[in-house]
Amino acid sequence: MNQTIFISGTPTVGKTTISEVLASKIGAKLIKINDFVFENGLTLGKDSDKGYEVIDIEKLDAALQEELEDFDGTAIVEGHVSHLCSNADKIIVLRANPEILRERLEARGYGESKIRENLEAEALGVCGCEAYDMHSNKVEEVDVSSMTVEDAVEVLEDIIEGNVHYPFGNIDFMEWIISN
Ligand code: ADP
Repeated sequence: MNQTIFISGTPTVGKTTISEVLASKIGAKLIKINDFVFENGLTLGKDSDKGYEVIDIEKLDAALQEELEDFDGTAIVEGHVSHLCSNADKIIVLRANPEILRERLEARGYGESKIRENLEAEALGVCGCEAYDMHSNKVEEVDVSSMTVEDAVEVLEDIIEGNVHYPFGNIDFMEWIISN
């Protein structure tokens, strides 16, 4: 079956790790947006306040369409802005309790303000909301907090095959905001 699946979520939620295992298990083409944007020059330049390269979403969207135009099979596109692109059959937003993400963001060497920004985004479910605004019922939202990578891969495989549905809006980490 020809399908394009976007996998999104807050940085360190597990997109890359889970997508790599999933893609090799089901024989899908994997596009990692972080690599794809640099290979194809799809950035707008460095944000001087935040210190990272800003992705040109319009150009990324067009480049993804071109890349997948003649592709036959299942394609997985992973990255924290994937949900802002178009033409996916399903958009899977991975979620995890901010408590878990704090350690991972620290391990990635992020500064405190960037850590806080990402944890708040996760607690508020920003990726899921943005995805739902754009793609409504095509969005699936999965809490991987207590899943191993293999568990998560099985759930995603079931979603892709259409056996299960994890509707947007059922995950709530707002408690974290109140206690932090
Ligand atoms: P992302 O691509 O969303 O930024 P990564 O896939 O790079 O996230 O994962 C960030 C870190 O979290 C990695 O060290 C990875 O091994 C770990 N990790 C990801 N998913 C899980 C999981 N389900 N259980 C335990 N550790 C995980």
